[in-house]
Amino acid sequence: MRRRVSIFGATGSVGCNTVALIEAQGGAEAYEVVALSGAGNVALLAEQARRLRARIAVTVTPGCYPALRAALAGSSVEAAAGAEALVAAAAEPADWTMSAIVGVAGLAPGLAAAARGGVLALANKESLVCAGDLLKRTCAAGGATLIPVDSEHSAIFQALRGERGGEVERIILTASGGPFRDWSRAQMARATLAQAVAHPNWTMGQRISIDSATMFNKALEVLEAKQLFDVAPDQVEVVVHPQSVVHSMVGFRDGAIIAQLGPSDMRGAIGFALNWPRRAPLPVARLDFAALARLDFAPADPARFPALRLAREALALGGLAGAVLNGAKEAALDAFIAGRVGFLDMADLVEHVMERLGADAARHGADAGLDAVMALDAAARRGVAERMDGMALGARTGVWS
Ligand code: NAD
Ligand code: MG
Repeated sequence: MRRRVSIFGATGSVGCNTVALIEAQGGAEAYEVVALSGAGNVALLAEQARRLRARIAVTVTPGCYPALRAALAGSSVEAAAGAEALVAAAAEPADWTMSAIVGVAGLAPGLAAAARGGVLALANKESLVCAGDLLKRTCAAGGATLIPVDSEHSAIFQALRGERGGEVERIILTASGGPFRDWSRAQMARATLAQAVAHPNWTMGQRISIDSATMFNKALEVLEAKQLFDVAPDQVEVVVHPQSVVHSMVGFRDGAIIAQLGPSDMRGAIGFALNWPRRAPLPVARLDFAALARLDFAPADPARFPALRLAREALALGGLAGAVLNGAKEAALDAFIAGRVGFLDMADLVEHVMERLGADAARHGADAGLDAVMALDAAARRGVAERMDGMALGARTGVWS
């Protein structure tokens, strides 16, 4: 029987790599493709669905439905549109699901997939950051197995194979430091969108690339690691490693460190999740240590990257503080992309909203549901909007200058 697979966020950076790997491993002959999803890029979505002979293609954008239908005319692929259709497609039985939508928008479809079981390959770190307990609980109830796809967490997962959880002393997340690793705060204050998107090592979607420049991506990954590997906050460390060759490390109580290394190519982590529990040949470059010559490590500078401190605060608060951190971060990122705030303003906005909403969010227990998470996400976004209105008013009256 062919393995049934679904890919949510198929048209994105992780999604396209996933489609390519599935095609390299036999495509529609080897896999029964249940559902593919995208947003505005319906031409690509339709092309992927035709090539993989998918049963359903869903665009989350209702207005794109006519274009998707037209692009699928004459094929056997069923077209669907809207957020409800997306969740319904995620609930269709599948043996393996890639969760690669960007942002908290990936949470509801991820939960629907978790509830019906199979392997949940999780690139969408936001669902663990915002609702880790809920997602893990849903996986347990549905009999789903969560396999991390974020390169650092895939590395840790690989380093932990065959080890005992109680013997782990620390988890060491590596961070490239992004494009502004060596920039001064004054330079960062003037950073443009194009500069923030230009990641030195990894080719990724626009939003995660900017998150790498602020190090909010690493901040989310600290919370993600805490959820995935069930460690205490002070057991998660971050070290800057500009080459991105060591994808992350685990330290054990005997002082031993196990690291996973590889080229900075997401097909490594995606392919590992696709073939888990086995390993299959992957079309990635092989490391040449003689050519590498050196690997560097340095501490992260908290003054230039306040995101890491904000992650620590969210961890210390617990509860649903991660939903506030992420919601505020998503809204601040929208504002930066729209040219409405500067690069350093993003962390200031998140800090402001965390101060106001963090303690309330922390009161939620591990049994909090999707509604509570989404209400906090909305409140955090409103908090950013209000703060920006206040800043604009302040600028006019000179209060903030
Ligand atoms: P991307 O922006 O390239 O693609 C996002 C996908 O989600 C697209 O298919 C898009 O159509 C869809 N989408 C966007 N908004 C949506 C919405 N509101 N509702 C439903 N679908 C929507 O993103 P990406 O870089 O592939 O990242 C995807 C996820 O994987 C993110 O959570 C990111 O943090 C994580 N991740 C990515 C990489 C990487 O190399 N790109 C590495 C590690 C983790
Ligand atoms: Mg990562």
